[in-house]
Amino acid sequence: MKGPRRIVIELGTVGLALVAAFTPTAPSAVERWFSTGFYPALQRHVTPLTNLLPFAVLDVLVVAGCAAALTVLIRAVQEARRTRGMWPVLRALGDLAAAAASVYLVFLVLWGLNYRRVPMTERLIVDPGAPASQAVADLGVEAATQLNTLHDEAHRVGWSGAPREDETFRRAFKAAQRALSEAPPATPGRLKRTLLGPYFRWTSVDGMINPFGLEVLANPDLLPFERPFVAAHEWSHLAGYADEAEASFVGWLTCMRADVPARYSGWLFLYWQVSEEVDDDGRARLAKALGAGPRRDIEASVQRLRRGQLPWLRTAGWRVYDRYLKANRVEKGVRSYGAVVTLIVRARFEPGWMPVRRTAAAVQDPGP
Ligand SMILES: [Zn+2]
Repeated sequence: MKGPRRIVIELGTVGLALVAAFTPTAPSAVERWFSTGFYPALQRHVTPLTNLLPFAVLDVLVVAGCAAALTVLIRAVQEARRTRGMWPVLRALGDLAAAAASVYLVFLVLWGLNYRRVPMTERLIVDPGAPASQAVADLGVEAATQLNTLHDEAHRVGWSGAPREDETFRRAFKAAQRALSEAPPATPGRLKRTLLGPYFRWTSVDGMINPFGLEVLANPDLLPFERPFVAAHEWSHLAGYADEAEASFVGWLTCMRADVPARYSGWLFLYWQVSEEVDDDGRARLAKALGAGPRRDIEASVQRLRRGQLPWLRTAGWRVYDRYLKANRVEKGVRSYGAVVTLIVRARFEPGWMPVRRTAAAVQDPGP
């Protein structure tokens, strides 16, 4: 394709991406048509396929994308030299902008619109406002107590290392999703290795999903007792809970419905998370409440992070992710990780950590 027609198409694509990025969308419409409609139907077909592939689809896309972009730029520079004009370079930059706009549009359609669905605080009955610091401290003590109780049994039973192969765990994930939405439950993803593994290690990232392949990529160094929670967190992203705090919430609910080793993994995550929310005194109290066994496991996690991390890259990496989240309308950015504590403390639960959903009747009944 040549000349004016190409320019019109490219400008149209960039314009469409800008409209998609900035036009307000109604969360109820996104919830109905996308997050519980088109998206789950798509996910149930794509994830089983990418689970079969022995490699990460994202690796192929990243390598091919970078190679294509480099080729376009190099050719443009060569032509600019030959013709002694800047036009080929400008045209190449236009091509790349249009390509980036198309990637963004595909991202939205395959997964990204989930950032705009109905938030958990409106799905469930959640007391408004920030939780009292005492309630957060109590949750931390509860986490420590649970870890002390579950530690020996969890280590005796052990962790298989492949959460997707664990029938009980898959059932727990299904039950957690059913407690939150009528959407068909998502298919769990295999924890895959990726070329990005070293980057995960250097920046202390536990895992991510590839929105273009609906697959799960995991940090290669995860310890056995960390894997169930990380898997459940990433599966929750696959289930359309894009927000980090919500993915952790659904991941934690999954662990609570599973066997002792997975519950241990869930409480370990929450213990970490609460430790980050409280002040130094609170943190010292929490550390004191922890028995020798769980303390060894926490220490092993700290060692794993310290060994791998490159502090400057870690800071840069998380800053980029913060911008990405804000660009996707998550105003709190990476701080939304901590919001999971607020959700667990403020949401109303029935026995068995069954969150109470907001229904017409529940909204009328203000409760105790
Ligand atoms: Zn996540």
